[in-house]
Amino acid sequence: MPVPVPVPSESDPDPRWQFFSKDKHWYRSPWFAGQHQIMIGFGCNDSPWYAPDARCPGSDGFHHGIDIAMPCGTPLRAGGAGVVLAPDGPGAPGAAYGTEPFRIRVSEASGSYDVLIAHADQVMVKSGEKVRRRQRLAQASDSGAPDGCHLHFEVRPAGRGVDAAVDPSPWLQLTSD
Ligand SMILES: [Zn+2]
Repeated sequence: MPVPVPVPSESDPDPRWQFFSKDKHWYRSPWFAGQHQIMIGFGCNDSPWYAPDARCPGSDGFHHGIDIAMPCGTPLRAGGAGVVLAPDGPGAPGAAYGTEPFRIRVSEASGSYDVLIAHADQVMVKSGEKVRRRQRLAQASDSGAPDGCHLHFEVRPAGRGVDAAVDPSPWLQLTSD
């Protein structure tokens, strides 16, 4: 019999989770199942994971996405319609994003953007595939994440690299009760 793997939950969270956000609300989003908290927000922060950045005060680093702490295995879904990009090519995410990061290109009146989903595993979509809103994409894991299972959600103008990342809040569509 396989040894059961402990799965963190809201009552017994991953001990590696460290929150570097003052926001203590629990949020829902079309991109994930359940209700979870922001571990690290977009932009300057004092977590130990990022090198000091000239845009930030003191020794603060810059986070290019929003990290949502969630139990390992939490279902991740498409919060909007789009097309899954090839893993290589312009803006290809590096190893820090885990073993199976993937991007979904979404088109809007304001232009095309690449939504990057990182630290996921059990990815169920292939490059070139069209996804529809609410479609199951993957599950949350700690692949490439030293700080526990979470969703790293990042948005960049189409084809751009990490330095072009924008505040992903409008795409993440967080709501709280
Ligand atoms: Zn992150």
